[in-house]
Amino acid sequence: MSKILQGRRALVTGASRGIGKAVALALADAGADIIAVARTRSQGALEELDDEIAAKGRACTLVPMDLRDFDAIDRLGGAIYERWGKLDILVGNAGILGPISPLGHIGVKDWAELMDINVTANWRLIRSMDPLLKQSDAGRAIFVTSGAAGKHKPHWGGYAVTKAAVEELALTYSAESRISNVKVNLVDPGPIATDMRTRAVPGEDASTLPTPSDIAPLFVELASPDCGKAGERVSFYDWAAIKRS
Ligand code: NAP
Repeated sequence: MSKILQGRRALVTGASRGIGKAVALALADAGADIIAVARTRSQGALEELDDEIAAKGRACTLVPMDLRDFDAIDRLGGAIYERWGKLDILVGNAGILGPISPLGHIGVKDWAELMDINVTANWRLIRSMDPLLKQSDAGRAIFVTSGAAGKHKPHWGGYAVTKAAVEELALTYSAESRISNVKVNLVDPGPIATDMRTRAVPGEDASTLPTPSDIAPLFVELASPDCGKAGERVSFYDWAAIKRS
């Protein structure tokens, strides 16, 4: 029986662990071939992902790179065009938490890193991958936001500013894509048991939280050619509650 993403190709950033790894595996389960991005320091984790995807009978192309290397994002776009001529699915998931501290205490380097990874890399991905997504019969782009955006919570400002920017980026890109086959949506995960969550809320009992594998099917749904959603900010917790009801 044909799977819903059979023959489609997905680029997933932050695929070495956490939500990104689970999404890469779920997309592969649904029939997609994967292009997996994370930093070179995570080469071992990427190789494990490669093995797991190969065991599912799908192809995985590993791209160990730092997303702050913006020219490398352009080179990746060129390489995807040369090799496959198109991209069906872009998952802009990679992100960092940065310092949890008052705005005035955030170091200049830390602020720049937050902006580079959480915001500018996603803009550069749109810039490089949009022509490739347009070559697909049903291009799908999914970006990852956070409940922190819009809450104005003390000490979370650095991270929250970047997620508010990602929302503006994705929703504007969605509006610009209306007359094409490309559909763009945002996922707001809510608390999920990952390394980032442990850093954000140390001491929390992670066993009470949903896991990355719980949220991954939402990404599969949004990546599907049949997905009718565009320009939506989908809360995983709301989506899961509807699925349970
Ligand atoms: P995580 O476990 O810390 O994983 C982050 C991923 O991003 C890793 O694969 C990491 O790869 C990659 N990454 C970070 N900086 C990178 C860079 N410069 N270049 C390439 N890759 C880089 O985090 P997570 O919890 O899965 O978070 C995934 C997304 O969900 C993030 O955008 C986060 O803001 C969002 N989110 C998470 C939660 C939650 O509760 N977990 C809630 C709301 C939103 P390396 O191996 O290279 O470090």
